Amino acid sequence: MKTPFINKEQAEEIIRQYPTPFHIYDEKGIRENVRALKKAFAWNEGYKEYFAVKATPNPTILKILHEEGCGLDCSSMAELILAERCNVKGGDIMFSSNVTPPQEFAKCRDIGGIINLDDITHIDLCLEALGGKLPEVMSCRFNPGGVFTLGGTGEGFQVMDNPGQAKYGMTEPQIIEAYRRLSKLGVKKLGIHAFLASNTLSDDYYPTLAKILFRLALKIREEAGVTLSFINLSGGVGIAYKPGQRANDIAIIGSKVREAYEEVLTANGMGDVAIFTELGRFMMGPYGHLVTRATHEKHIYKEYIGVDACASNLMRPAMYGSYHHITVLGKEDKPVDHVYDVTGCLCENNDKFAIDRKLPKIDKGDILVIHDTGAHGFSMGYNYNGRLWSSELLLREDGSVKMIRRAQTLDDYFATLEGFWE
Ligand SMILES: *Cc1c(COP(=O)(O)O)cnc(C)c1O
Repeated sequence: MKTPFINKEQAEEIIRQYPTPFHIYDEKGIRENVRALKKAFAWNEGYKEYFAVKATPNPTILKILHEEGCGLDCSSMAELILAERCNVKGGDIMFSSNVTPPQEFAKCRDIGGIINLDDITHIDLCLEALGGKLPEVMSCRFNPGGVFTLGGTGEGFQVMDNPGQAKYGMTEPQIIEAYRRLSKLGVKKLGIHAFLASNTLSDDYYPTLAKILFRLALKIREEAGVTLSFINLSGGVGIAYKPGQRANDIAIIGSKVREAYEEVLTANGMGDVAIFTELGRFMMGPYGHLVTRATHEKHIYKEYIGVDACASNLMRPAMYGSYHHITVLGKEDKPVDHVYDVTGCLCENNDKFAIDRKLPKIDKGDILVIHDTGAHGFSMGYNYNGRLWSSELLLREDGSVKMIRRAQTLDDYFATLEGFWE
């Protein structure tokens, strides 16, 4: 069972003021989740979560997360400026980019953020962009290559992802060389970062990754003479999109990372390294809904329900075939005896929020909640077919609702056209 954080009556009241479709975020859920995460890593004195801005780049959301003690992980000029406008600066900003334009290195330096170099060639690019002087704190991104698994055999064995095919990060010999160079160039505090798998549903992803990075930290100390100040486990902790899936237990994850930390780092005199995370999906995914209304029904070779949202508002099903659970508000207790494709209006056959989904009978006018859209939802929006971005709303802790981004208008859409009307 997945239960939406708004019920039918609330939804109807909200819709009276803000028409569908819209994304709505649950402030209470967001805050409680950050607190649980911080508690899980409270054993590490320097622990910090840098929220991956690209997941939900709305300043109101970023401010809530910052109030709860999160920094921000940016990867573009727009995200750096967004962080700056939220008054987040200095060590509260991580900049984990790739194929980085020089002016973005400079912008990150100007607001005091930590530049996380994606490649060894970025040392020279960064030197050039920053007029020959590197910041005091920097980081390097590691890619172990090959295939990343959770190890073991049988049931515990899980292939997570394929770093050997990923464009990010440096090889082990490169990263060791990078630390030698960076410390020679006067960088005082150095960290390491790696992102090996996304949307993992296993309490073992972070601990396994942590062990790899902790062991590498010892090697870096030995071979490059650099003692790392922080180790960034990056993003990738997933959420249970499907009912019945077991959600990650962040308390267990935190304590397993602690075990690895004590075994590898503390035992080797590196017990004061800070642990950083850069979670996006885990921080926001479950705390967002896309709310949409059924507007059409169609009976041909299959049964279709058309809704007023489309892939422009949530691209993940069209792009990755992702499952997003759907609740038909007010019909939670009705028999699930229909099978539908739930579709948007794009002239693109991938524009389906659900395919062959068992649902209660849907009638025109029903309000549908599409679950788990709080991360990589609104932010992946696009304007194909001239379909516009929806509004974003915040359900506050007192139950009131505030608009935190208006819907795009046709004036916004036409605003960038040049050379035709003059
Ligand atoms: C996307 C991204 C994240 C967040 O990933 P999630 O899967 O949402 O946790 C963190 N760090 C970097 C560098 C990213 O690109």
